Amino acid sequence: MQRIPMTTPLVEMDGDEMTRILWQMIKDKLILPHVDLKVEYYDLGLLSRNATDDQITVDAANATKKYGVAVKCATITPNAQRMEEYPQLKKMWASPNGTIRSILDGTVFRVPITIDKIKPVVKNWEAPITIARHAYGDVYKGVEMVVNGSGTACLVFEGKDGETQRHVICETSESTADMADMTDMTDMADMTDMTGMADMTGLGSVILQGVHNTERSIRSFAKSCFQYALDTKQDLWFSTKDTISKVYDGFFKEVFENEYNAHYKEQMDALGLEYFYTLIDDAVARVMRSKGGFVWACKNYDGDVMSDMISTAFGSLAMMTSVLVSPDGPVEYEAAHGTVTRHYYRHLKGEKTSTNPIATIFAWSGALRKRGELDGIGDLTVYGDALEAASLETLNAGIMTQDLVGLVEDGSSPRSVTSEEFLDEIARRLAEKLR
Ligand code: NAP
Ligand code: MG
Repeated sequence: MQRIPMTTPLVEMDGDEMTRILWQMIKDKLILPHVDLKVEYYDLGLLSRNATDDQITVDAANATKKYGVAVKCATITPNAQRMEEYPQLKKMWASPNGTIRSILDGTVFRVPITIDKIKPVVKNWEAPITIARHAYGDVYKGVEMVVNGSGTACLVFEGKDGETQRHVICETSESTADMADMTDMTDMADMTDMTGMADMTGLGSVILQGVHNTERSIRSFAKSCFQYALDTKQDLWFSTKDTISKVYDGFFKEVFENEYNAHYKEQMDALGLEYFYTLIDDAVARVMRSKGGFVWACKNYDGDVMSDMISTAFGSLAMMTSVLVSPDGPVEYEAAHGTVTRHYYRHLKGEKTSTNPIATIFAWSGALRKRGELDGIGDLTVYGDALEAASLETLNAGIMTQDLVGLVEDGSSPRSVTSEEFLDEIARRLAEKLR
């Protein structure tokens, strides 16, 4: 059979642990037999990032800007424990996703992949809920420190034109403690084992954090959310905590409102679509009571947390697509879950694992379909659709990985298979479709 040719390279970002193993299996079993794959390959595995002083991550993000479409495997973000596990690490490298997102900017859209056999935990959800996660700034670009002793913590802006703004955050001496939330010292009783906590008789250490965002990034976040809602014909919800964070979150709220009124209200009205803003706590309550079928725009941290809740409630972390849409056009497809470390260590011991490859398969199908659309290669678009259809058919036939088996409640008896068997079943169905 003739393999489907490609004209523009896809930016391939390889990753770590179990997802790296699945990555290669997906290529070997599902992609290479059908597609004459043209990629620009970046190895974002931890040791390769370490060897290049993380330059490879920056290069991969820039290649995504150049070519327009990337597919990324899950990667390890090193923490203290990883520093012990990999003693050769030169430093605790930043999160690759954080680095890529701050270069590409934009919004990450996360949609649960649903099948008839598995009903969401929340019984009234009838349609998937899409999370639109702002991909830039806030705590992901935060600056933090611990301070001890008396002093004044300030938020200061020194303008190049000499204008300075200065706000006192807190006085760290006990007598002038203007720290309403920390007055109840009984709350700190069980914090004695925290390292670096000095002088627990007084306030102890004080922790500080500075975060930022930009109007440009927030505006492009708003625009891509409205555009996505229009494209997929869904209502758009947006939530922050502007009652508490009047300036910071209030700014987000205002930008969304401006964009809506200036550019999107008419189009959304014409399609009978609604935009509404509400507080994040109210949004959480409403989401639980809703029927689903809308886009929920969240700030960076809220989107990180809520997408895990939504994907798990719809089935599994591995049953969700994730795509970063940059304001200038580039898109990066990924899985929303991590590198599935526990499974990897079983794999290293020679055991067969039943790790769910669906999110990683959908990252590839999404990226190849997009490449097909951009380059006018119809066969590649058809291939992307066929790969997804073959995957869903396999699941609907009751053949699934261990994480999903216990979730089937329709009375049928699903068959739990290893990742390899699962991919073989998909490969067989895919080959039939493409014959
Ligand atoms: P994780 O890899 O998502 O795994 C958490 C648990 O969820 C797993 O132990 C597994 O449960 C289950 N799980 C996740 N994906 C699964 C799949 N495809 N199939 C079956 N079960 C799945 O998260 P983590 O353990 O917090 O993080 C591990 C590493 O991934 C960390 O180094 C972290 O930095 C990295 N990470 C990367 C990304 C990314 O690159 N996008 C995102 C998050 C985390 P059981 O073990 O109970 O089976
Ligand atoms: Mg997360």
